[in-house]
This record gives sequence, C-alpha cells and structure tokens, in this order.
Amino acid sequence: MHTVYLALGTNLGDKDRNLQVSIEKIAKSIGTLAAASSVYISESWGYISENTFLNQVIKVETELSPIELLHTTQAIEKQMGRTRKSTSGYQDRVIDIDIILYDNLVYQSEELTIPHPFYRQRPFVLEPLKEILSRDENFALR
Ligand code: AMP
Repeated sequence: MHTVYLALGTNLGDKDRNLQVSIEKIAKSIGTLAAASSVYISESWGYISENTFLNQVIKVETELSPIELLHTTQAIEKQMGRTRKSTSGYQDRVIDIDIILYDNLVYQSEELTIPHPFYRQRPFVLEPLKEILSRDENFALR
C-alpha cells in the first residue's frame, strides 16, 4: 500500500461540488481517503483570471503505481470535463489533480515528476499539505 498526497484545484462552475465529485471518484478508482485538508481559497497562479480557485489536499492509500495513478487522475479530470492540459499555458479548469507526494519516492520521467516540481512555491498546495501533515506528529516535511 502506498501513501499519496493529491492537490485538487477548481475555478469553474460549482467549485464545492467539483471538489466533492473528484474526491468521490478518487475514492472509487484510486484508493481509500485517509485525510482531507480544509478547503482553501486562492487567486489564479501563473496567469490572470477573474475566477478564484478552491484548493484542497487529500491523503489517499493506494495500490496503484505512480504512472497508473497519473493516468487515473487524468481520466478523472477528463470525465469531469477538463479539455485542455496546460502545455499552452495555465487556464481556468473544472478540476486539476496534481500528485504531490508518493511515499518517499523521488521519480522523474517525461510524463511525471514526484515530488511535484512546484509544490513548495505554491501556498495553495503547501498550506493544506502542512495542515494534514501537522496532524501526524511523526512526519516532518523535508
Ligand atoms: P496539469 O498541471 O494537470 O495541467 O499537468 C500538466 C502535465 O504535468 C501533465 O500532462 C502531466 O504529465 C505532468 N506532470 C508531471 N508531474 C506531475 C505530477 N506530479 N502530477 C500531475 N501531473 C504531472
């Protein structure tokens, strides 16, 4: 069993519901939900948008490999109506699911980098992540 931390972000449509639906789908196809942070409100990052984001970090126990996990999170994004990926720049999105940590794994391929390359610079990931981690007194963020 692997412990993973996923960052969820949404800034289109019914944002509370988008978070809820994505968590239900994650619980169904990825694994057991072990913890969830509060919901954070943030401004768009890396581009300008009038639509503010809701962000949340969740902890999930999964049997999936890192690549299986990526493909499953991408399938959920697609099912929820996400059309374009960010290769052409950041944009508004119904749901974005980023893999932040996967056990203590350090991994890099063309498709996937773990830990997520930018999470330390993004308060909307770091704050909810710290919130969950601080509940576990044995864990120190390196
Ligand atoms: P996104 O932020 O969802 O637009 O993702 C853009 C691309 O980042 C995807 O096509 C992934 O292949 C790639 N990627 C690399 N590392 C990660 C990661 N840790 N979590 C999610 N996507 C990642």
